[in-house]
Amino acid sequence: MTPSVRCPDCGAVIELPTDIECGTVVECLNCAGHGLRVREACGAWSAQLAYRVSCPDCEAIVTLPEDAKAGDTIYCCGQAYRLTFAYGAFAAERCEENHGKTYVA
Ligand SMILES: [Zn+2]
Ligand SMILES: [Zn+2]
Repeated sequence: MTPSVRCPDCGAVIELPTDIECGTVVECLNCAGHGLRVREACGAWSAQLAYRVSCPDCEAIVTLPEDAKAGDTIYCCGQAYRLTFAYGAFAAERCEENHGKTYVA
């Protein structure tokens, strides 16, 4: 039997590969912008939203760890970005402390 999960956001059923591992992030085709982290317990799979943010500088998409929260720091482009959470989504913004510390030759 193919394992499947229901998207917690839109309710769509997503079929999982049979060799899927616990903690893998899969895509919901209906919901752009976030992934679903799947988990297995007693033979039943469930899915939780896996938040993503895009780097303000290079547009790279970073999938956040499960315990990510506003105020945490992520790294991209060789610098730190602080996570903010608003309207149900995370965003990354450049850490203010880094301003003024860039030396231009
Ligand atoms: Zn969905
Ligand atoms: Zn970047």
